[in-house]
Amino acid sequence: MLSGNYNRFYNELITFIPSARLITDPLRTLAYGTDASFYRLIPQIVIKADSEAEVSRILQASDRHNIPLTFRAAGTSLSGQAITDSVLVICGGNWNNYEILDKGERIRLQPGIIGGQANRYLAPFGKKIGPDPASINAAMIGGIAANNASGMCCGVAQNSYQTIHGMRILFHDGTVLDTADENSRAQFKKSHSALVDNIQELGAAVRADSELAARIREKFRIKNTTGYSLNALVDFEDPIDIILHLMIGSEGSLGFAAEITYNTVVEHPHKASSLIIFPDIASACKAAAIVKQQPVDAAEIMDRASLRSVQDKEGMPDYLKSFSNTTTALLVETRAHTRDELQQNIDTVKQSLAEVPMEKPMAFTDKADEYTKLWNIRKGLFPAVGAVREIGTTVIIEDVAFPIARLADATLELQDLMADYRYHEAIIFGHAREGNLHFVFTQDFSTQKEVERYRGFMHAVCQMVVEKYDGSLKAEHGTGRNMAPYVEMEWGTAAYGIMQQIKNIFDPKNLLNPGVIINANPDVHVENLKPMPQTNPIVDRCTECGFCESFCPSRDLTLTPRQRIAVQREISRLRATEANPERLVEFETDYAYLGEQTCAADGMCAVGCPIDINTGAHTKEIRGINVQSAVVQRAANLIADNFERITGLVRLGLNVVHMVHQLLGADLFEKVAAGTRRISKSLLPCWNPYMPRGAGRITPSNPSSDGLPRVVYFPSCVSRTMGPAKGDPDNESLPEVTARLLKKAGYELVFPENMHRLCCGTPFESKGFLEQADIKSKELETALMQASDGGRIPVLCDASPCLYRMRIVMNPQLKLFEPSEFIYDFLMDRLKFEQRDTTVALHHTCSTMKMALEHKLLAVAQACAQNVVVPDLVGCCGFAGDRGFSHPELNQSALNELRPAVAEKCAAGYSTSRTCEIGLSQHSGLYYKSIVYLVDECTQSI
Ligand SMILES: Cc1cc2nc3c(=O)[nH]c(=O)nc-3n(C[C@H](O)[C@H](O)[C@H](O)COP(=O)(O)OP(=O)(O)OC[C@H]3O[C@@H](n4cnc5c(N)ncnc54)[C@H](O)[C@@H]3O)c2cc1C
Ligand code: SF4
Ligand code: SF4
Repeated sequence: MLSGNYNRFYNELITFIPSARLITDPLRTLAYGTDASFYRLIPQIVIKADSEAEVSRILQASDRHNIPLTFRAAGTSLSGQAITDSVLVICGGNWNNYEILDKGERIRLQPGIIGGQANRYLAPFGKKIGPDPASINAAMIGGIAANNASGMCCGVAQNSYQTIHGMRILFHDGTVLDTADENSRAQFKKSHSALVDNIQELGAAVRADSELAARIREKFRIKNTTGYSLNALVDFEDPIDIILHLMIGSEGSLGFAAEITYNTVVEHPHKASSLIIFPDIASACKAAAIVKQQPVDAAEIMDRASLRSVQDKEGMPDYLKSFSNTTTALLVETRAHTRDELQQNIDTVKQSLAEVPMEKPMAFTDKADEYTKLWNIRKGLFPAVGAVREIGTTVIIEDVAFPIARLADATLELQDLMADYRYHEAIIFGHAREGNLHFVFTQDFSTQKEVERYRGFMHAVCQMVVEKYDGSLKAEHGTGRNMAPYVEMEWGTAAYGIMQQIKNIFDPKNLLNPGVIINANPDVHVENLKPMPQTNPIVDRCTECGFCESFCPSRDLTLTPRQRIAVQREISRLRATEANPERLVEFETDYAYLGEQTCAADGMCAVGCPIDINTGAHTKEIRGINVQSAVVQRAANLIADNFERITGLVRLGLNVVHMVHQLLGADLFEKVAAGTRRISKSLLPCWNPYMPRGAGRITPSNPSSDGLPRVVYFPSCVSRTMGPAKGDPDNESLPEVTARLLKKAGYELVFPENMHRLCCGTPFESKGFLEQADIKSKELETALMQASDGGRIPVLCDASPCLYRMRIVMNPQLKLFEPSEFIYDFLMDRLKFEQRDTTVALHHTCSTMKMALEHKLLAVAQACAQNVVVPDLVGCCGFAGDRGFSHPELNQSALNELRPAVAEKCAAGYSTSRTCEIGLSQHSGLYYKSIVYLVDECTQSI
């Protein structure tokens, strides 16, 4: 229940925001409130804001009712700056418009675009955005700019502060300033003269104070995100330019960035990397200082503990295990426009380091697979600590910077401090060129003693960094709540006073993300710590980083994987403490739909997760518990034992539905179907005009002659039952077309014995019938082993989701192929392709993506069609086998961006999963079918 001002504020919001985008229930406020930090605040209201005009009105309402607001992009912040116990305004996924300007010299971006996506837009121009946080494939532009995030390459030269060109800023009263528009600047100077004058005067005063100005310049020579970007006051004189640059790194506490224009930087086409091994930290730091002056784009230091944390992981070079206890590595990358320039760079770097002692001769590689392996060592460090931590503890990544000349001493002292405070698992790595070190350790916050250990350690670190080395307490991750008590310690009273004035000028009522950066509470960094209770081994290692969220098809409908885990943790906490039974019941009840039923269980979350957590597997386990009753189990066994009969009935049912559809026409039938579904309380499947008719039953025949190459063809149960949709110009079923294509390519087909009884188990597994799933896949495995002569003959399955499961659970001797993979690997040379002058849409199923087969599917499609559109904002379609029939809203939400991307341009759509194709057709208006149809159409035998 909202009280007082919050109630009045809500009542105003509801006049211009639909209630579906105003969240106040306990489960979702907890879920949405979660970010990657180790703090927990639960918002009272979560607003999913839709447009600049809407945010402007929200700001005005907040001003009127004195309600604090916190903005949220991807919620990957680590310092507690993206959370609130007031109102959270989410401006994420649907803020995704962009415009490339001046042939890629600049890019205008809405704040919800993921950094990596912006770089994909810029790639054809040989450009990228400057800021490059390690979280770039999850973090969004709004958060990247508001945190002044940076990473391995951008240093202090290419961060948001240096590369920002312009911004549309919304101030606390809802006014908009477009800094790139002269009219808007002039207008703002008039309408907000007091704010502008105050900033101008503050800038003038700071520049006049030569000691303070010099101090500010000095501090920003190395990375620094502690406090506000005071360099704006010394680098610029125009007040609007100062305002623009103060917004960078302000963590949503000065205003809202509705649009950001970056000057882009060059993305070099040629790269080479070397993992240089030094005997100790001192030599590695000496080398880092040297390479800073060389043509080197990144130099990542990793201490021995870091190397040890990943040395046993798959794909790591064996030599990592053989180093001494003081070994330190520097992973160096150089980039160039041409091959010759790259070689020159390599020679220069090698010469520059000739005098520094090394444990192993230095060698560069420009081969993508080799340098990717080297960078995987670095990228695996944070997840490695997260993955081995004790359940219930938090993994903390700290982020300090030192003047590079003193990096060696500082690193050694940091190691000593960590030992003093018994953080024996801690590792140190970082961007050595910039003097920026991350140290990662695990922390239990469940007892006061442990909280005190953390407090003591952080205080000692702060004293060391500031007093001894004059470094930065936050180099990249932002101040948030975590470093707020130490901003004054780092900057001194005068500079801190200026920061307080800045906050006051922009936000006189302290309503914009209060408590971050400027906070009088000396304990704020050890308050509101997030509990991490044990919940289920599949998800217990989750660090709540949020990297999985953009992969999830239910992210805009109900919950993301991170949110599902956060809610499950809360349910476990409530069960264990028995403190609040009503809340527990409410959470358990609401989770059934928000968490379990609307999870596609496709496991795409594991693709984005640094520690491979598959929340879908957890969902299947929950479903397994829900289907334990004897009656339900008996029904599942009945289906598994009578599979041929059941698929026959489904075929028949589809044909009957198809006939009625033909008789009534689409409009009337849709109404009848919707009515019957309503009466059945959604027990009957949802019908749509692209529903397939029953597939013609195929009669397997055995190979007749010897001499031709053979392939075992297993048509999935879905292809055996579901034919094309009514109206689709293709009349044949997928098995018929596949068989023809294979024969055209000169193959003889072998079908597994009793094919119509067989199933890979996926339909059972996705509903939690894990035992029946295993029985079915075992039966199929036996039949395939026999048909393939013990694995000698390749096996083709025509549905990628089925093939994916088969690959995981079946005998590795079987050579299993997905359709696009089989065509790419075996048929390209055996068929004559005729590329048609047409544009087609292509959909990579989640299984295609999990098996990393996108490039093969794309290459096959491009061999057939001149233009192939793969919509960049469409991931897993959420149809999830048959969930698209029972929860069509999941499919609809996941495919929101499909129609605008393909409907006008494309003649047809292609994919590799029949059920996904039903939803894809419905939400695009195109007929989607298997890629096999396209290849059959565009090829002749040789
Ligand atoms: C595993 C891991 C690795 C990381 N590595 C790095 C790294 O290498 N370098 C680095 O710098 N950071 C790193 N981070 C931290 C974080 O990812 C970045 O700071 C990132 O830029 C935050 O972006 P976001 O979209 O998640 O923003 P959020 O966390 O949602 O928000 C960040 C801040 O911006 C504010 N904000 C959001 N949108 C707006 C807007 N439109 N207008 C005004 N204010 C807004 C929020 O209120 C908040 O204060 C890492 C995080 C994790 C979990
Ligand atoms: S599941 Fe993985 S990616 Fe998602 S929040 Fe947890 S650790 Fe991060
Ligand atoms: S399995 Fe799919 S729907 Fe479920 S949480 Fe993971 S990505 Fe989301």
